[in-house]
Amino acid sequence: MRPVERGNAPATYTRYQDAQPDLVAVLGDYCSYCERQIETNLAVEHVQPKSRWRALLNEWANFLLGCVHCNSSKGSRHVRLDSYFWPDCDNTARAFRYTAGGEVLPGRYLRRANRARAEASNKLLGLEKNPGNPERPTIPTCGPASFWHLKARALRVSPAPHSRHVSEPEVLYES
Ligand SMILES: [Zn+2]
Repeated sequence: MRPVERGNAPATYTRYQDAQPDLVAVLGDYCSYCERQIETNLAVEHVQPKSRWRALLNEWANFLLGCVHCNSSKGSRHVRLDSYFWPDCDNTARAFRYTAGGEVLPGRYLRRANRARAEASNKLLGLEKNPGNPERPTIPTCGPASFWHLKARALRVSPAPHSRHVSEPEVLYES
């Protein structure tokens, strides 16, 4: 889960769907959670679900982009924001790591509370199921980790091309 910068709202929206092109322009056509590139059906994701937070229905600051898998896993439950890591708020490049086998795991050397947050985030978004987990056998080869490796190879960087946008690693790491 790479950190993303949404920036200021480029417009005000009366329909949240209208924000989709602006979000793609800023975030790229990637799911903000699993990083899969989705050229179609990449939905405007409401961090706080639109069914519960009507005031945030058309609010840019509540938007990310989400694929079907992450959206359906997250569902419409109320989320306590500080119980999870969010790509627009936290240094998610350090909060998670990706194994060669494609697992998404909590980052190394996390403090206990942050490890719990990373695990909770994985569970909320279903990232712990993909790939190689029998609970989700349908997307074994195109998951976030395989994409991550392709991207890292393409960019010749590892592991966080966007880490310059974020700070405070000491918050996540034990000294
Ligand atoms: Zn996703």
